[in-house]
Amino acid sequence: MIGDIMSVSRLRMGTDGRGVVTLVAFFDCPLRCKYCINNFCHEDEFGGIPRYSYTPEELVDVLKKDDIYYKMSGGGITFGGGEPLLQSAFIHEVCRIADPEWKMRIETSLNVPWRCVEPLTDDIDEWIIDVKDMDMKIYKEYTGVGIRNLSNNLYRIRECVDASKLHVRVPRIPDFNDDEYVAFSVKRIKDILGVEPEVFDYIIPSTLAAKK
Ligand code: SF4
Repeated sequence: MIGDIMSVSRLRMGTDGRGVVTLVAFFDCPLRCKYCINNFCHEDEFGGIPRYSYTPEELVDVLKKDDIYYKMSGGGITFGGGEPLLQSAFIHEVCRIADPEWKMRIETSLNVPWRCVEPLTDDIDEWIIDVKDMDMKIYKEYTGVGIRNLSNNLYRIRECVDASKLHVRVPRIPDFNDDEYVAFSVKRIKDILGVEPEVFDYIIPSTLAAKK
């Protein structure tokens, strides 16, 4: 089994969860967000790393280098992208052979078929879910795809993952939603999951801001 990994970024703090974190970013994403912060994920290569270059064992060997930092800080591994859930079988294998003390987190749009979510429901300590917007029209305009998988998965994940592990984020997206729509999204998330989402201002990447 091979992971299609775009980058492995070590010793991160304050951006991808508690403690010292290694961010493992995967290629590919089913969304096409207008202000994608990580457009490289749609490309054929990134930073000279060939695609499909890590087995689970090879990745864990890299992750082990910071073992002591994870354990001392309550940190661990954050899987991001792109959309990491497209490679959930690979991530499941990494979690299986990794040190159980490492905290496993995933940053996801959750807009994938449920079969991509299910293998990880017992593996992940924190689900960082960026829902974009819960209004179906705005969602389609911003991401280029429909909201159906996300909506279905929110209902399904609440049945098998404890609410304390769900960290939902609702961005204020320039030109796409406003306080009224954000309030609507917050209410939908509370109604479905029973958790209070984090609202934040999305900062447009400087390369895209220059084109506006
Ligand atoms: S979900 Fe993330 S990686 Fe995918 S298109 Fe949107 S911003 Fe880019």
